[in-house]
Amino acid sequence: MMFRERVFADATSGYKDADFVIFGVPFDATSSFRYGSREAPDAMRRASYNFETYNDSLDVDLTDLRIHDLGDIDLDVRTGEMLHRVCDVTAMILRDNKIPIALGGEHTLTYGCARAFTGTFDGPGSDYGMIILDAHLDLRDEYLGVEQSHACVSRNIIDDLTDKCVLIGVRSGSAEEYAYARTEGILWHSADEVNDAGMGSVVREALDALFDRGCEQIYLSIDADVIDPAYAPGVGNPEPFGLSPRDVRAAIRLAAPYTCGLDIVEVNPGYDHGESAMLGARLVREFIAAKSVCLLG
Ligand code: MN
Ligand code: MN
Repeated sequence: MMFRERVFADATSGYKDADFVIFGVPFDATSSFRYGSREAPDAMRRASYNFETYNDSLDVDLTDLRIHDLGDIDLDVRTGEMLHRVCDVTAMILRDNKIPIALGGEHTLTYGCARAFTGTFDGPGSDYGMIILDAHLDLRDEYLGVEQSHACVSRNIIDDLTDKCVLIGVRSGSAEEYAYARTEGILWHSADEVNDAGMGSVVREALDALFDRGCEQIYLSIDADVIDPAYAPGVGNPEPFGLSPRDVRAAIRLAAPYTCGLDIVEVNPGYDHGESAMLGARLVREFIAAKSVCLLG
């Protein structure tokens, strides 16, 4: 069920010993504007070899960490089956007390990861919350006749899995999506708010809101289009007035102590000169370094 050609840099551990388990989800079947995010897992793996293994600001060397790369999930299937497979792989990794890191693929796959979290952390006192970094609300109830679409992923997660969910970096949505967010009390912070107040204060507010609702674990989903297209032009639906890479790194670092799963989705390597995949790979490495500091105490 998994294809494995090139592994992510420094993913030299076997599965059994690993603390972090990376897997690719090369799925872009519902993409609405630009196909091609299925190429992103491999592009991010290739890009990952650009970077030093040592992270100076965190004083962590990735060669000292236990990272495994499962390869890509075999996905010559429809969306529903893709979500089953992503959920199964994520659930296995969580059951084995490891941290899943999914490389998308389009945002639709996050529903599969979140469903595994719902099956694992849904008891009282061990609830999980979601932080979704995205330019888009993704709150449509259907898009182009499809319910399980990348444009509906936050809506489906909130409707079916957990309403303990905060969106950060938002600057695009239909009037209906904004109205839905208002009437349902969806927690979201705009990109302008991040720019004005700083990511530090926005993430702290998001975490406090999730803690107040009983969440102890966070699943962090990063839609690469949350980053300004000046930095990340290779995404499915670029949206100006976005966040800086530094903002996203700040969010990763602040949320890392509570983050038990991560995905980076919507990178589309066919639309730039490798900048977006490079940034995606770097953000994954940043998360691993930041989380390892927490694991090691
Ligand atoms: Mn999205
Ligand atoms: Mn988006």
